[in-house]
Amino acid sequence: SAKAEGKNTLRFYLPAMNDNLRESVLLETDLRKALEREEFYLVYQPQISAITGQVVGVEALLRWNHGKKGLIPPSDFIPLAEETGVIVPIGDWVIRTACAQSSQWQKQGLPPFRVAVNLSGRQFLNKGLVPFVKRTLLETGMDPSNLELEITESMTLDIERSFSTLRELKQLGISISIDDFGTGYSSLSYLKSFPVDCLKIDQSFVRELLSETNDRSIVSTIINLAHSLNLRVVAEGVESKEQLAYLASFGCDEIQGYYVSKPIAEKDIPCFLKRSS
Ligand code: C2E
Ligand code: MG
Ligand code: MG
Ligand code: MG
Repeated sequence: SAKAEGKNTLRFYLPAMNDNLRESVLLETDLRKALEREEFYLVYQPQISAITGQVVGVEALLRWNHGKKGLIPPSDFIPLAEETGVIVPIGDWVIRTACAQSSQWQKQGLPPFRVAVNLSGRQFLNKGLVPFVKRTLLETGMDPSNLELEITESMTLDIERSFSTLRELKQLGISISIDDFGTGYSSLSYLKSFPVDCLKIDQSFVRELLSETNDRSIVSTIINLAHSLNLRVVAEGVESKEQLAYLASFGCDEIQGYYVSKPIAEKDIPCFLKRSS
């Protein structure tokens, strides 16, 4: 504690903590109002086949355009939204918006492609999630086979509960991926029984693929593991041709990262798809 570190530390810490506290209380108030103020929007990052280069999906990523502070990155507000529970209505908004968008793209005559949506821990544990997703698919007319929900390993700690939620979600005809795979604190044993479709290799393993032989071992092992379990595998955070070459040589199925494209506005997706096909 600060006290254990001596008087000077304590005196130095308190004002700073108050500032942080005040800041986060203010941000929380703003976060609660952001939905009705329509300050959220989604951007979409393309995912391509490592073999054909064609777009196979997009990941929806949340953006908050704060009235006064401007653009606030998800890393600065998702944890707070999660702590306070506001993530549930925000997460519902994300699902509804992404589903409606997918439905619209299909109506425009684009070829079918997946739209992946990130779930938070609270959202995943919320009893209303499955009925909400079911209703939203019906209301938006989205083809369930185009929807993928991303969870993280840490959300699956309650194995029985997550197993039944995942099974119910899968019964809706959607797919499930494990995001940031390899960084979570969990055993691998759940993988053999969990109804998931895809592993997303965390970008921390991809970043130094060229210089770190250990990262190359981990990445190729994850790819082999995924394939032996009949799972698809996506690499995140691919920024260079050289990283892509390694991933392709290891047999990685799909690629996502700045090398392909940054997350882009929905209106730019049709053009991106046409260019890549
Ligand atoms: P994530 O789901 O792992 O998303 C990938 C993140 O990596 C995104 O950051 C994306 O912009 C970034 N990224 C993509 N390609 C590259 C690359 O080549 N290099 C680097 N350095 N970064 C790359 P973003 O959009 O800031 O999102 C951060 C995290 O916030 C996401 O990580 C996800 O955990 C969370 N998040 C975003 N949108 C939502 C949402 O709608 N709901 C929830 N619950 N979480 C979300
Ligand atoms: Mg994700
Ligand atoms: Mg990720
Ligand atoms: Mg991440």
